[in-house]
Amino acid sequence: MHIESDIKLGFKDVLFRPKRSTLKSRSEVDIRRTFKFHHAKTEWTGVPVIAANMDTVGTFEMAEEFLKHEMLVAIHKHYSVEQWQQWLATQPEAIYNHIMVSTGTSEYEFDKLCTLLNAEPRLRFICIDVANGYQQAFVEFVAKVRATFPQHVIMAGNVVTGEMVEELILNGADIVKVGIGPGSVCTTRVKTGVGYPQLSAVIECADAAHGMGGQIVSDGGCSCAGDVSKAFGGGADFVMIGGMFAGHDESGGERVEIDGKTMVKFYGMSSDTAMNKHNGGVAKYRASEGKTVLLPYRGPVEETILDVLGGVRSTCTYVGAAKLKELTKRTTFIRVQEQENRIFG
Ligand code: 5GP
Repeated sequence: MHIESDIKLGFKDVLFRPKRSTLKSRSEVDIRRTFKFHHAKTEWTGVPVIAANMDTVGTFEMAEEFLKHEMLVAIHKHYSVEQWQQWLATQPEAIYNHIMVSTGTSEYEFDKLCTLLNAEPRLRFICIDVANGYQQAFVEFVAKVRATFPQHVIMAGNVVTGEMVEELILNGADIVKVGIGPGSVCTTRVKTGVGYPQLSAVIECADAAHGMGGQIVSDGGCSCAGDVSKAFGGGADFVMIGGMFAGHDESGGERVEIDGKTMVKFYGMSSDTAMNKHNGGVAKYRASEGKTVLLPYRGPVEETILDVLGGVRSTCTYVGAAKLKELTKRTTFIRVQEQENRIFG
């Protein structure tokens, strides 16, 4: 047994130290980034915030809205190829730069991925998502997808340590998905005791990925716009968000009236709810590692998007970063034992 005693930090453990700056307004900040992908060898420019591939977040409707803000949506894997084709037929060319096709690692899912990408060759992003990215079979799957789609941008995860980031990049990932346990409807840490505070995971994994010319996405754990900025400040190239984008018109999902209030069901993708819906129940050998919650219905997602992007722009002005690209360099985190004043809730 071994104990690592360095302190590992979550978003709640730090704040940005403000820095003298010549920026006059947050409207001067450019939050778009351009990335060149290590394996795909292509470039992408946009706002590097991604809606999670959860079935009540990563929807086609969300993608239509995100396109307006040049952001990305990892479309969940439960749409059929026919649904994809029908929807794509109604979309502008630009949509292909702002959507990712999600897949698991089963043979069925690989065949479906091949069918879809061969039918729609303009789709350029693939998101390979498993709860535990440490398994050899997962690494082999990433290598197989890379061999089959040499020019597609592959995002794969989830992992939380530098050596596994390197392993995934060596095996074909362009972007590594980082996060085990921080999600708003995730119960992995409770069920298994496994996890890694998200900000430290981001800092360590970004360092490993950047050393190899790859990128990372910080996946999960953002509960406010400030957390999104902290993920970028820690070195994340992209930030993936689930819960903050749930409960809106574009999220879909079942609605219920409770005491005259409209609530929306939101659940983890390995919760009982998701497994009953998509897989015919929870397999006996595994515990569900996600919960189901009811969120107040929040109307159109646009306001939430503006809130998140406005927050990130504002962080940049506080530390004097004219571009999001400069944020990490301009970041000094201070460790804190308090966040916001909760006197009024
Ligand atoms: P959030 O932004 O809601 O904090 O986190 C979203 C992320 O939580 C997703 O992108 C995904 O990585 C993770 N997640 C979604 N569903 C589940 C689940 O059922 N179990 C676990 N362990 N993680 C989940």
